[in-house]
Amino acid sequence: MSRRKLIAGNWKMNKTSAEGATLIKELKDALPCKGNPECCTVEVLVCPPFTTLPAVIAEARGTCIHVGAQNVHWAANGAFTGELSAAMLKDVDVTHAIIGHSERRQYFGETDATVNQRTKAALAGGLVAIVCVGETLAEREAGQTFVVCEKQVKDGLASLSAADMANVVIAYEPVWAIGTGKVATDAQAQEVHAFIRTTLGALFGGAVAAQTRILYGGSMNAGNAKGLLAMPDIDGGLIGGASLKAPDFATIVSSAL
Ligand code: PEP
Repeated sequence: MSRRKLIAGNWKMNKTSAEGATLIKELKDALPCKGNPECCTVEVLVCPPFTTLPAVIAEARGTCIHVGAQNVHWAANGAFTGELSAAMLKDVDVTHAIIGHSERRQYFGETDATVNQRTKAALAGGLVAIVCVGETLAEREAGQTFVVCEKQVKDGLASLSAADMANVVIAYEPVWAIGTGKVATDAQAQEVHAFIRTTLGALFGGAVAAQTRILYGGSMNAGNAKGLLAMPDIDGGLIGGASLKAPDFATIVSSAL
């Protein structure tokens, strides 16, 4: 089964509205399709900070560039200071939400249980959920990579149905490779992606496993993207630093064509 590649940029806490709109303009120019939605075989997504969403979405409208959020809360509304619901994100035409990024797990107390709640809320609210998993360096060195990723996948996707999985994307992001310049080798990444696909098969059946996209994230850049994206179980990238430079991000998109 062929899976459409997804190249997603995680802008993290970078860019004002004006800067974000400029980056989208530059990206349109740099993309091989010039942003024409008709000719893209690769799905292109950027996930800017919340405050910039309206400006970025306005600039991306009518192009192949989708705009996602970096988080979503599990409740519809209420006393959750600092959070945003799926309905609020849909209200400004957000299409995707990153959930359980390692920085949220590390600095903001995100757990597999909250990842699961957020994922269910994103799906119920009509968003595509990009669920992040990945081991730390200590866990890799202790031989725990598969154990950690299996638990994060199982618990993060607990009680989802096979039908729900049509709107779930997994991002395998080894924590030791995020923002460090230390990229997993093509073979290291492929090994874990294949393992995650096997895990998805055990949970949801072979057909779902075969259709679910698994992105690699962790220091992917214009130089190393082609090798990673050529691996059979790597269906795209979640890109931090390199997504802030239009030419680099466009080169990564081209590497997926
Ligand atoms: C990320 O933020 O998801 C990420 C992979 O960052 P970087 O590409 O900078 O390592």
